[in-house]
Amino acid sequence: MLGEGILKGLAETARNFVGSYVSKERLTTVEYPEQRIAPIEATRDFPFLVYDGKDWDAGLRCVACQICEKECPPKCIFIEKSKDKKPDAVGKQQFYPARFDIDISVCMSCQICVEVCPFDAIKMNTEFELSTTDRFGGLLLDRQQLAKSNEYYHEIHPTEASGVDARLAAERAAAEAKAKAAAEAAAAKAAAAAASSAAKPAGGEA
Ligand code: SF4
Ligand code: SF4
Repeated sequence: MLGEGILKGLAETARNFVGSYVSKERLTTVEYPEQRIAPIEATRDFPFLVYDGKDWDAGLRCVACQICEKECPPKCIFIEKSKDKKPDAVGKQQFYPARFDIDISVCMSCQICVEVCPFDAIKMNTEFELSTTDRFGGLLLDRQQLAKSNEYYHEIHPTEASGVDARLAAERAAAEAKAKAAAEAAAAKAAAAAASSAAKPAGGEA
């Protein structure tokens, strides 16, 4: 029937309007900005950089590999890799981003940067009140503006962040076990070499 969709839509609106007086579930709007609906966990808008520990600069997980910069479809990520290395949050020497900017006036929230990052260093934020009268500089976020703690990540995406923590802990444990096994093997080899040279008679004394 012609106009059936419009009538259905109007009926739904009327049901919500009348129903909102008797049922909270029918109250589909709130008086924003005084009232706010908490975003669902899968909400995403613009990326942020995760850091571990208390110091955002020292704890950034990003190692400036620049994969996200290459893969970003509208090319709105700008990275300068450091010349030197410094210890990351677990004490491993790593390169770091001397510069890491994202132009969120260009970002299309596709999340590809998150998908391609091998270090779980970049994730999607849920913060949307980012409007500014400065269209250019105001929307070019630098690494300090982008840095958010792992605790913040847990607040906005608890399920995802717990999964990442578990995976990173397993990877760290595996790396530590491998390093320990290598150290033990080297020590055993050195001990065997020392025992073998001690067992040999000294040259010219036979
Ligand atoms: S979300 Fe998409 S567009 Fe935005 S910075 Fe990441 S890859 Fe680029
Ligand atoms: S955010 Fe991830 S993919 Fe992008 S440069 Fe840093 S470590 Fe590499």
